[in-house]
Amino acid sequence: MAPLLATIEHAVKKPVWDCRMCGACVLHSTGFTCPMTCPKTLRNGPCGGVREDGSCEVDPSMTCVWLKAYGRARRLPGRLGEGIDELRPPVDNRLQGTSSWANLATGRDRVLPEGWSAAAEATEASEAAPTGPAAVEVPR
Ligand code: SF4
Repeated sequence: MAPLLATIEHAVKKPVWDCRMCGACVLHSTGFTCPMTCPKTLRNGPCGGVREDGSCEVDPSMTCVWLKAYGRARRLPGRLGEGIDELRPPVDNRLQGTSSWANLATGRDRVLPEGWSAAAEATEASEAAPTGPAAVEVPR
């Protein structure tokens, strides 16, 4: 069943998003731009080597995947583009070739590398921490 699902997923997503079957899809948070098409397979934004004309430093014939991702996310309606600034965990290469749909259903795509959850939680906590005057507790 799983290989069949992966075949169907590939048939659907390859022509539309040039899907590379990483097994942990993040299209929903990248303006529907597959980050695995970046020559460096970066999943959290551009590398810093983007050329002045917006092309990729590795393959100048292509526009930086992340330039496209940010542009598309901005143009998406409603909340669809909001996840672009999310910190995406590193891809688990053991999932390569498997169905991200199946991995989403089983939760396999949310198994994080050791040390990552603590780091992600610390980041979330610091972002969620109230700041400014609203954080000051008024004594009674
Ligand atoms: S993020 Fe992964 S599953 Fe999603 S389109 Fe790209 S390669 Fe395919």
